[in-house]
Amino acid sequence: MMIAKYFLPTCYIKHYKDLDLNQLESRGIKIFIVDVDNTLISHEVHELDNEAISFIQAIKKHHMIPVIVSNNVKERVSEVAKQGQCDYFSFALKPLKRKYKAILRKYNCKSSEVCVIGDQLITDVLGGNRMKFITILQDPISNKDNTSGKVTRFIETMIFNYLEKKNKWRKQQYYDNL
Ligand SMILES: [Mg+2]
Repeated sequence: MMIAKYFLPTCYIKHYKDLDLNQLESRGIKIFIVDVDNTLISHEVHELDNEAISFIQAIKKHHMIPVIVSNNVKERVSEVAKQGQCDYFSFALKPLKRKYKAILRKYNCKSSEVCVIGDQLITDVLGGNRMKFITILQDPISNKDNTSGKVTRFIETMIFNYLEKKNKWRKQQYYDNL
């Protein structure tokens, strides 16, 4: 089924702190793509909290390279990346493949060595699945969206409803298909 193939994440978690980084490391993941808005911090927040910084550090400790990839503007994304001391790609136009392909080239790695975490089906999961990355969907940390977020949330709700109807996915029924 096409929709499930493109929109079902490999894993579905409540929050990034629930992730088993050992498992991802032992699976050979080298690049860990992290979304910003509503994954690490909410839209109205400008600084990473200690939990988010610890998460980025933990990725490094597990010998994976954290890369911040966001559709947001450089001004915001570069600031966050600076705080997390990691590389970033801003205005990424997820789910388009262009920036993802640039990442594969830059770090000289294969799709099977990349995982991505984000809070949106239409950008993070769809983009990652198109690239055959491991995709991790996290519940948004805030209900507040920016304007473009509102539009994608609307479409996303329709896809979630479809997946629920087909018994493929259910809200807060977390799973790990790694
Ligand atoms: Mg997001």
